[in-house]
Amino acid sequence: MRSASRAARQKGQRLGFVPTMGALHEGHLSLVRTASAASGVVAASIFVNPTQFGPNEDLAKYPRSFERDCEMLEREGVDFLFAPSVEEMYPADAVTWATVEELSGKLDGRSRPGHFRGVSTVVAKLFHIVEPDAAFFGQKDAAQVAIIRRMVRDLNLPVEIVVCPIVREPDGLAMSSRNAYLDPEQRKQALLLHRSLMRVQQMAEAGERDVAKLSAAGRETFAKEHSVRLDYFEVVNPDTLDPVSDITQGALVAVAAYVGTTRLIDNLLLKPIPT
Ligand code: AMP
Repeated sequence: MRSASRAARQKGQRLGFVPTMGALHEGHLSLVRTASAASGVVAASIFVNPTQFGPNEDLAKYPRSFERDCEMLEREGVDFLFAPSVEEMYPADAVTWATVEELSGKLDGRSRPGHFRGVSTVVAKLFHIVEPDAAFFGQKDAAQVAIIRRMVRDLNLPVEIVVCPIVREPDGLAMSSRNAYLDPEQRKQALLLHRSLMRVQQMAEAGERDVAKLSAAGRETFAKEHSVRLDYFEVVNPDTLDPVSDITQGALVAVAAYVGTTRLIDNLLLKPIPT
């Protein structure tokens, strides 16, 4: 991978990189298309990273569709696919981590201890292997975006981070590889995440500034649906992931909920309010 990347860059081509865990959908492809538009050469990776899954999480059953993924990437004109084995990525006695302190314990990090340490470590490793000029991430994983940006800044990694908008199903559900776990009833219930965010957006657009009221309204969306268990509904600063008391400077409204045993996330960026 590294020699292919270096050969391309030596020809003066800009290398765009899209890291994924496979089971590709239109959300992933939107990153690939943005990368293609901005780069002469595009590399993608497919790696279901074990270190970002907790002991009781879905590593073993995470959807895998390698052949189909390859076809999709080929159709999009991706030049290189890096799909290493776990053994290749992690020597058995590996003990070194790239940890983004503080941020990694917020939002999803609170309910998924160790998750972001696994994410930042694998992304750092992938950046060292692929050596891209730019890497493309989805706004869907808003906390991940904050953590990767911070790591790149703190460790002087020479990679531009480009964040692409959330791609949704026609009814608003954010696309996710984990949506494949949902049965038809749960698929309907999963819409609550988007609905809660829409409710907050409408209130903010109608002039509501009180974060407590906005969060309460978001949370209330989940109150009647007992088969959906809210993990968090928070209004935070998109860079620090700390709660904000005021949305005038803009804010990230982030939600996570369990639909059955499937954990889904979604979010909304509120723009700064012109004074
Ligand atoms: P994953 O395969 O879930 O690790 O996701 C790989 C990349 O695709 C991450 O940067 C995600 O944020 C991004 N992604 C996943 N779903 C979406 C979506 N619905 N819209 C935009 N980007 C997405």
